[in-house]
Amino acid sequence: MLLRGGRVIDPALDVDTVADVLVEDGRTTAIGPDLAAPEGAKVRDVGGCVVTPGLIDLHVHVYPGLGDFCLHPDRVGVDTAVTTVIDGGTSGVATFGLARRWIDDPAVRTRVLAFMDPNQIYFATKDFICHKLEIANDERNLDIASTCAAVEANADVVVGLKARACYTDDKQTSPFLAAAQLAAGDRPVMVHLGRFPFTPTISTTDLLDALRTGDVITHAFRGASGIVGSDGKVTPQFRAAVERGVCLDVGHSGTDFRFATARALFEQGFWPTTISTDLNVFNVDAPVVSLPETMSKIWALGLPLPDVVAMATVNPARVVHREHELGSLAPGRVADVSVLRIDEGPARLSDGFETIEAARRLVPVGCLRAGEWIDAVNYAAPDAA
Ligand SMILES: [Zn+2]
Repeated sequence: MLLRGGRVIDPALDVDTVADVLVEDGRTTAIGPDLAAPEGAKVRDVGGCVVTPGLIDLHVHVYPGLGDFCLHPDRVGVDTAVTTVIDGGTSGVATFGLARRWIDDPAVRTRVLAFMDPNQIYFATKDFICHKLEIANDERNLDIASTCAAVEANADVVVGLKARACYTDDKQTSPFLAAAQLAAGDRPVMVHLGRFPFTPTISTTDLLDALRTGDVITHAFRGASGIVGSDGKVTPQFRAAVERGVCLDVGHSGTDFRFATARALFEQGFWPTTISTDLNVFNVDAPVVSLPETMSKIWALGLPLPDVVAMATVNPARVVHREHELGSLAPGRVADVSVLRIDEGPARLSDGFETIEAARRLVPVGCLRAGEWIDAVNYAAPDAA
């Protein structure tokens, strides 16, 4: 397969140029201008399109049947030109075998990786049942030895832990976050910025202080999260966390991304490390739609396109320590390649609270997943009237 004449943006290789991409036997073998098509090669004209390493969505929910929350991995993944999705802690330890069925299902074409919740029983539902029953903040739900064993047994797909930072007696520390960090070892722990119903969580300040280099704050650009002081400036704890290498993830969701917060943080120099969606059944129709739609929103706020592409390719690959295999078109890699169209606007983009008119939007065309071409499905963005 030869992808002919697209704008190839691969931040890992510092490439942004019009070029061809050659794929043979499921691997990328060359990037360059006017490559000769080997005999029998399929040639796909992608002139005018953006060609990137396979997009990676760092935060989704994709184990249908485990609660009422999840979407099919391919709806979130290859149907929208996203080749890798990472589940954001839908499952705890005791149900991870069910989660793995979706990860391993040969009928699923998207690569699926996972952040695991450290609790024995945790699953994400609309009614927050694990919080309503107060098992998300019950230390009897933790069994560190079992969590560590599950992480090791599933080390091929578990890239980190997802902690809900509930507390028990001491309001300043979360045994659930501590357990996640212990079981994670060198792997990242993803935490949710903002509260949960029914179960109290440690303050944002205490949460920021507890995060290690490489840990991830998802929903980092939501409103009213306690990372911005009354003077409109970020708090010293937030600045210190970012300076020691805590990663900022978008995690759009239905109510967890605001243009207003993003503008304020971008102005102070805080850009996302990663762009992700938190796609689930309750936000997929609106306002989130897809990872390319979410990338369009970050692009519309003025960040350069190559940076936006990095936030959905090499950056998430680095966050989950998979940069040796994911997030680049480097020759020899498994050929996960995304192709996006740029539709000139005006494009109406909504964060769920505010609608902006952008000059253009990114629209998925298709992807190569391990060298196999998959057409994108046209999920229209909501009419954000
Ligand atoms: Zn989530």
